[in-house]
Amino acid sequence: MIPVLDLKAVNARYRDALIAACTAVIDSGWYITGSALTEFEAQFAAYCGSDHCIGVGNGLDALALVLQAWKALGRLRDGDEVIVPANTFIASVLAITQSGLRPVLIDPDPDHFGLSAAQLQPHLTPRTRVLMPVHLYGQIEGMPPLMALARHRNLLVLEDAAQAHGAEMDGRRAGTWGDAAGFSFYPGKNLGALGDGGAITTSDAALADTLRSLRNYGSQTKYVHELCGVNSRLDELQAAMLSVKLRGLDADTERRRRVAAAYTAGICNPHIRLPRVGQAGSHVWHLYVVRCVHRDALQRHLAAQGVGTAIHYPTPPHRQNAYAHLAEQPLPLTEQLSREVLSLPMGPALTDAEVAQVIEACNRFTPEA
Ligand SMILES: *Cc1c(COP(=O)(O)O)cnc(C)c1O
Repeated sequence: MIPVLDLKAVNARYRDALIAACTAVIDSGWYITGSALTEFEAQFAAYCGSDHCIGVGNGLDALALVLQAWKALGRLRDGDEVIVPANTFIASVLAITQSGLRPVLIDPDPDHFGLSAAQLQPHLTPRTRVLMPVHLYGQIEGMPPLMALARHRNLLVLEDAAQAHGAEMDGRRAGTWGDAAGFSFYPGKNLGALGDGGAITTSDAALADTLRSLRNYGSQTKYVHELCGVNSRLDELQAAMLSVKLRGLDADTERRRRVAAAYTAGICNPHIRLPRVGQAGSHVWHLYVVRCVHRDALQRHLAAQGVGTAIHYPTPPHRQNAYAHLAEQPLPLTEQLSREVLSLPMGPALTDAEVAQVIEACNRFTPEA
């Protein structure tokens, strides 16, 4: 069976360097907020092209802490509205509600399935304060008009870049478009730790300063607490391993792009809709997501042919019990997508033979069978 993501194969390619990095941390005797973190933060800020990077415990905290920092800085108040695409992973929405703000879920753009300026116009209210575009599946789209709207209306923009390390539009990478961005280093992400991890990028020095305090009990000087913070730090072991994997990220992304190009060229089946390919560089192919009206039959067919798949995501946030109070609104495109999407195997360690097997299995699908 070809797994949708073979994490063991992904990390095996870095095994010796990862072990050397861990050994250095173990022997250093310093395990939280040390030089491995500072070095990784500088490297990841440079990689994205932003002034600051703040490592935190995970991607959810990265997003939530930005919103909480904006509150601490007086830029947001309880109950302010954050517009977010409804077809996202639930963490985008949890970050908003955890921070005492109100999520406004809207259907995504029918063309690229991200947040678009045209789509969100009717949802702007006097309480709208933040736009949260999600670079879903690794694709960055529609940022110039979105930023123009945000500047015109004096709105803050928080990119959910958890799936989009290195994706770029007009030569600018994810993490540099908005006022801040949250990244995840969950093991399955394009830049994955061997445990939990996350980071914020921003070019706002005041925000970066507040975030460094918030992630560390609201303290910059030991036992002096300016804010009610949390404990959410990227530890030295994870930071050291992420520095190793960051060196290979562009090559890994290139391999993902080749796999995606092979799928796009090779899969030809009237029942399978292929993902849209935007401008060069805009997609880092965290996931290769096709659509099929007979999705469940396609998934069974592929499993029988030895091809693993996954669904991102089977139940949108507003249909979860956790957000029962948001279930009322009509979000037809989001619901349609949740019934039709299917993620094919994708990753830097997929072999050409596996890619060919996936393509053949897709091309053999008929809904009647
Ligand atoms: C993974 C992910 C997150 C959360 O990241 P964690 O590190 O798992 O907390 C947030 N948003 C999106 C779109 C994600 O894919």
